[in-house]
Amino acid sequence: MPARDPECIFCKIIAGELASQIEYQDDQVTAFHDINPIAPVHLLIVPNKHIPSVNAVEPADEAMLGHMFTVARELAAKFGLAERGYRLIVNTGDHAGQVIFHLHMHLVGGRALGPMLAR
Ligand code: AMP
Ligand code: ZN
Repeated sequence: MPARDPECIFCKIIAGELASQIEYQDDQVTAFHDINPIAPVHLLIVPNKHIPSVNAVEPADEAMLGHMFTVARELAAKFGLAERGYRLIVNTGDHAGQVIFHLHMHLVGGRALGPMLAR
């Protein structure tokens, strides 16, 4: 898998070629505000490397994937979500409604989020 997909909008955001509200970036991950937020805080935490979904994750990615959680924890604290809580969501594939095929973790909070899924 190449590190970058030239057609991918998240790869373009990571490279600074597409405007976005970037909240955090380091050598492994980038976090930016979702363009269509579902809650007062809605960030996307993404690997800098183009990985289409959890289906394409490899053992060599484990350190970076763990780092995504550390960044999620730091951003949750920064945005005042730690005490009341928040939700981390990773959609994979058609049944989960994944629309952008560059792995991303949604960090959602700032209001009561209700049950995880409708039954
Ligand atoms: P998913 O359904 O998990 O693939 O979610 C993709 C998310 O990406 C959605 O919440 C979109 O609102 C968000 N999104 C799409 N394009 C952009 C963009 N250019 N900048 C920020 N967020 C985006
Ligand atoms: Zn990409």
